[in-house]
Amino acid sequence: MENNKVTVLIISNDDKEVKSFKLSTNLISNYRKYLIWISSFVTFVFIILCALVFDSISQRFNNSGLTSRINLMNEQLEVYDSLKMLQKINSIDNNIAMINSYLYERGMLEMGNAGRESLSREKGRTIIDKINYFENKSVLFYKTLRDLPIGLPYYGELSSDYGYRRNPFGGYNGEFHPGLDFKGETGDPVYATGDGFIDRCDWYSGYGNAVVITHRKGFKSLYGHLSRVNVVQGQEVKAGDLIGFLGSTGRSTGPHLHYEIRKEGEDINPQPFLKLY
Ligand SMILES: [Zn+2]
Repeated sequence: MENNKVTVLIISNDDKEVKSFKLSTNLISNYRKYLIWISSFVTFVFIILCALVFDSISQRFNNSGLTSRINLMNEQLEVYDSLKMLQKINSIDNNIAMINSYLYERGMLEMGNAGRESLSREKGRTIIDKINYFENKSVLFYKTLRDLPIGLPYYGELSSDYGYRRNPFGGYNGEFHPGLDFKGETGDPVYATGDGFIDRCDWYSGYGNAVVITHRKGFKSLYGHLSRVNVVQGQEVKAGDLIGFLGSTGRSTGPHLHYEIRKEGEDINPQPFLKLY
């Protein structure tokens, strides 16, 4: 084995130090081959490293491109949304101005310039002012609407209209029917049609057990022939509250609700108050 090796001596310039090491003769005679292998390996590693670095840089570049695109889109979306919102707010503003204007022309508003009132035509108002304005107006409209006896007191079939009709108890004579009749089952729930106070909830001659609610603006609503009432006199009620149960008490031919609306003490036809459209 020793024959396959050569000894290499390294001697310092002043001849004082000598270092020796052995090298395989195979390594020396084939050093070109080894050099090629090593350089190939280094080149390979270098290429891999370059590829990795390039990939990472390009990914970062792509990410930053995407991020800036997303940011741009978000900005555009915000601008679009605010523009759209502003348009909508202006549209609501105009609608409220139209309603105000109409009510003013009809003599229902007495607030000076209320008819011409529109924030979009007033300079220097912020979007917050507008929103507060809409909020106040919408609360006012809602309250006004709730004060009127509107909608259905009972979800059932209408069996008799307001006006002259044949006597339901028979005979040839007609009679004036001052309200609407809803056919139903005894015990079915009957609801208040508007906010107000209970005027009475007792036996009311031909109406049998009846509830009368006083609303604002001189309106009253009456619910007759109830089997049972669910309120007490003077009680405040809200539209939709359960005020009693359908029955057939008083002058009645069968279970039904007799519903009346009175304006300043006079009965009026409740039909137009049942549906808005
Ligand atoms: Zn009736």
